[in-house]
Amino acid sequence: MSETTRLLIHGASGRMGQALLRLCADRTDCAVVAAITNRSPVQRVVDGVPFFAAKELSGAPAFDVAIDFSLPEGFAPILALCVARGAALVSGTTGLDEVQRAALEAAAQRIPVLWASNFSLGVAVLTELVERAAAALPGWDCDVVEAHHTQKKDAPSGTALTLGAAATANGAKVSYASLRAGDIVGEHTVQFTGLGERVELVHRAGNRDIFARGALHAAARLAGRPPGVYRVRDLLD
Ligand code: NAD
Repeated sequence: MSETTRLLIHGASGRMGQALLRLCADRTDCAVVAAITNRSPVQRVVDGVPFFAAKELSGAPAFDVAIDFSLPEGFAPILALCVARGAALVSGTTGLDEVQRAALEAAAQRIPVLWASNFSLGVAVLTELVERAAAALPGWDCDVVEAHHTQKKDAPSGTALTLGAAATANGAKVSYASLRAGDIVGEHTVQFTGLGERVELVHRAGNRDIFARGALHAAARLAGRPPGVYRVRDLLD
């Protein structure tokens, strides 16, 4: 394991991929050694970072951690590469199906993996608040309302499902509503409604850097750990 964590960024030309490349350039604890785009890259090397097409994945240089923010279609190849190379995987790709989630669990026998629907610190705290509210307000209606930009493919969002699962695990019966409008980065409201009163827990993401920073932080801390399933809160310090 080198002192600087060597990263492969999967989905490098996307909104999150671009934020990861930009923010990693400011860090000393990690460096991008390969950026993977879905189509053949127009330029082979950008700001010193080598770019590869998804079909050239097997030719990527050695890396310690892959950070994947792509689409579910790209998930199986990057997971297989991480297992083949003995590298860790940090993934924020949402909309994974049950087969993909089972494959991730199975891979955790051999490599460290961290999948999270949201890498922001605020949402980690919001999830804990939702757990407490659901347990303290039995019988109240619980609604998770999320809003995102019009390009987002999955609904409800992965974060909405995580928040809903936190409420369900504490006794709530959850309903979901999704809005797709303009360029909204991501807003989540968990609303508990009783007779004559209402509690609203809200998180608003102002930009994608909060997710990218969280994923880079997690990747730097995941490198070199034993195989297993990790959560964002395991790596927060
Ligand atoms: P985007 O559409 O801007 O980017 C996706 C990228 O993946 C594109 O560059 C695309 O070319 C690439 N891609 C598509 N199919 C691929 C394949 N088969 N192989 C390799 N690359 C492929 O999307 P985005 O806004 O950057 O979001 C990416 C993912 O991250 C989505 O699933 C989104 O929901 C999720 N997301 C998660 C978090 C979080 O904190 N967990 C935050 C924001 C977005």
